[in-house]
Amino acid sequence: MTARMGPTVDERVAATVRADVRATRPYVVAHADGLIKLDAMENPYTLPAELRTRIGAAVIDTPLNRYPDGGAEATHAAIADAMRLPEGAALVLGNGSDELIQILSLLVATPGATILSAEPSFVMYRRSADVAQVRYVGVPLGVDFSLDAGAMLAAIERERPALTWLAYPNNPTGNLYDEAAIEAVIAAAPGLVVIDEAYQPFAERSFLPRVMEFPNVVVLRTLSKLGLAGLRLGYAVGNPAWIAEIEKLRPPYNINVLTQVVAPIVLREFGLLESQAAAIRGERARLAGALAAIPGTTVFHTAANFVLVRVPNANAWFTQLRGAGILVKNLDGYHPLTTHCLRITVGTPSENNALLAALAPFA
Ligand code: PMP
Repeated sequence: MTARMGPTVDERVAATVRADVRATRPYVVAHADGLIKLDAMENPYTLPAELRTRIGAAVIDTPLNRYPDGGAEATHAAIADAMRLPEGAALVLGNGSDELIQILSLLVATPGATILSAEPSFVMYRRSADVAQVRYVGVPLGVDFSLDAGAMLAAIERERPALTWLAYPNNPTGNLYDEAAIEAVIAAAPGLVVIDEAYQPFAERSFLPRVMEFPNVVVLRTLSKLGLAGLRLGYAVGNPAWIAEIEKLRPPYNINVLTQVVAPIVLREFGLLESQAAAIRGERARLAGALAAIPGTTVFHTAANFVLVRVPNANAWFTQLRGAGILVKNLDGYHPLTTHCLRITVGTPSENNALLAALAPFA
């Protein structure tokens, strides 16, 4: 036996690790093995066999003993080509847009800084502010989930936020905010406004073409919802003056070598991803219609690849679906505005049929 010297490991952890970190619980991702996964806004379609064969051949020849290209130039070029970036705009890549959300929060982390977001919205805006030890202020959306321009402008005046988050469309509500309300927020905000367009492929609306019009806007995107969630590739687009600062906080080699090999191959077939997104939009309309026909439901208008629905008893619905092997997101208790709400990702036609069949007891 080793003699015990000095403080225990628990005492050392308590004395060393930030108190707020020790008090936080880790972000839990639901186990989904063997389940129909309609909880995480993934594209349910895989890639065609021929394309997967091409990817396989490229991966075989990728040297794993070497670091990736630190600048990820081929991936940069592939994104710039596929997404038609506006003239003069620059681009920075992240290991998922999650990483860029973290970096953007660190970018403004000066003493006394505030980060603002409409709420309910993507949970990582608050979590990343907490990690960066920046004060976070949430401004409630209206009851119909519209951006409350009056409340936002008052909060901007009061808080003078260094960073304001707007998800367009919003998660978990699925709606697009009014463009004039967004413009008013941009005009009033003293700091950076990040328009997070993770769900843009399903909305067909975007601030990206206009990003260079504004001195204080960066548009955030991801390939995750388009069908490449496993690659972990997000990007931010904006004036080179903003992007250059973000680039300084990007860890070297944050885009791994396999992502750098695969992303350009898939992005050359961008039309395929777009047609999958179109199929999802079609299924979204069918699913929303069928859910709306169930007594007692309110289906909120969505421009994303998921449907937010308020049901008579969210826990009963969740349990019923889980029993049928279907995982959705239960947002009851997440925010006062999402009481008795479930967020259902649009799946394949047969997955959506399985979901609707499992809801028969409520119909
Ligand atoms: N922004 C929003 C609004 C999201 O909903 C998500 C994923 N749920 C992300 C960003 C992060 O996506 P990723 O890290 O996969 O790019």
